[in-house]
Amino acid sequence: MSLFSKFLVLLLLLAAAAGGAYVRAGSAVGPTIAVNGPEQYVGRTAILDFSVEAPEGELTSIEAVLAQGETVIPLFVLADPGAATIEQETAERIRIAREFDRDTLPGVREGAAELIVTSVRPVLYGLREASSTVTHPVELRFTPPRLTVLSTQHYVNHGGAEMVVYRVAPTDVESGVAVDGRFYRGFPADGAGVTGADDSMRVAFFALQHDQELTAPMRVTARDPAGNTAGADFDHRVFPKNFRRSRINVGDDFIQRVVPAIAEQSSDARALLAGVPEGDLVARYVAINGGLRQANADYLMTLAENTEPRILWQGPFRQLGNSQVESGFADHRTYLHDGEEIDQQVHLGFDLAATANVPILASNHGVVIHADFLGIYGNCVVIDHGMGLQSLYAHLSSIGVAVGDAVEQDQEVGRSGMTGLAGGDHLHFTMLLHGRAVTPVEWWDGHWIEDRIGRKLAMASAR
Ligand SMILES: [Zn+2]
Repeated sequence: MSLFSKFLVLLLLLAAAAGGAYVRAGSAVGPTIAVNGPEQYVGRTAILDFSVEAPEGELTSIEAVLAQGETVIPLFVLADPGAATIEQETAERIRIAREFDRDTLPGVREGAAELIVTSVRPVLYGLREASSTVTHPVELRFTPPRLTVLSTQHYVNHGGAEMVVYRVAPTDVESGVAVDGRFYRGFPADGAGVTGADDSMRVAFFALQHDQELTAPMRVTARDPAGNTAGADFDHRVFPKNFRRSRINVGDDFIQRVVPAIAEQSSDARALLAGVPEGDLVARYVAINGGLRQANADYLMTLAENTEPRILWQGPFRQLGNSQVESGFADHRTYLHDGEEIDQQVHLGFDLAATANVPILASNHGVVIHADFLGIYGNCVVIDHGMGLQSLYAHLSSIGVAVGDAVEQDQEVGRSGMTGLAGGDHLHFTMLLHGRAVTPVEWWDGHWIEDRIGRKLAMASAR
């Protein structure tokens, strides 16, 4: 073979190899596209959030549209990102967020639509391209929920509870009462014993807490899965209450007795005490009295989510038999050590006098949702009475029930004691609404229950 022929063969082989590479490049995979949101529903406002990943982050184009039938509305192009935010997540991946609203979607209707994202990346030194497309089905929903308040005459005591009956449509939306940002979920009214209640009727218990203003705004609110919201006012009057102030002397003996005993049983307490010197009794006490009190309050908020969607209680709640009330609800306490102020806290419950080891009885029917040591409360039982209402029994020497037990009113749940942050044998009792403390006095009072709850449920049944 002549030199020229050899050269020709080599040239042909190279051409074949290049051709093969060119063909293979044509079947290279396009960028990886992931739509992070919206999950299913698109409301009056929504954020299209997606990420695109390619080798070495090389991208030729990205385009996102909302499509419904013939209507195609551009939402994003890489060449002109507009108000969209683009975040470089890794060397190979970017994340794009583009907010859009109903007004920017001319010609679309409520119902099914598609979010379509297409991206192209260069292959073989830019000689060819590889593209990919992701189609994400969504449902457009622009009509806000509809709310109608049915109950009248809502009288709210500062630190106390009330109840609203209302209708919400459609029925798959979350609704309840918002009191200056604190939300109290509503439940289907048949769970409150309203006879003949249709699917749209709801009952929500709510509170004006001791630390909120008397002028705190309160409304029924609703929010659908697409994020559309609605609100409705209800007539209400608020009554001020006097909360007591007291001063409590904390001695070294007390601190040395309670702090190590709580730390032994509570990992939250051990975490708060880590780094606090053994000898600094005041700092150790404040870590428990303030820090652990807050951690326990947070836990009770989470625990409250385990509520039954129906009322389990019946009639007035029972106060511990013949007990003397030692301390009022929302008593503002200043703590003193050797005459110096060391802390201030609000005591959110009632301290009821009891001798050691007396039976502690369930104040009403319900289901036990906590039966264990709980920080400042020591051995503690929480009973769920349904629709967000719970009762709490603290400082017990022993616990006689387990989580999941159904209990009847007056059934023994444990024995009195002085575990946790307690100076002597007594029952610390409180009522909670969605995990937030409310005065038990109302729930002990048959007249209050009839006026505030029974009357409104009877009127709802008649509708
Ligand atoms: Zn107490």
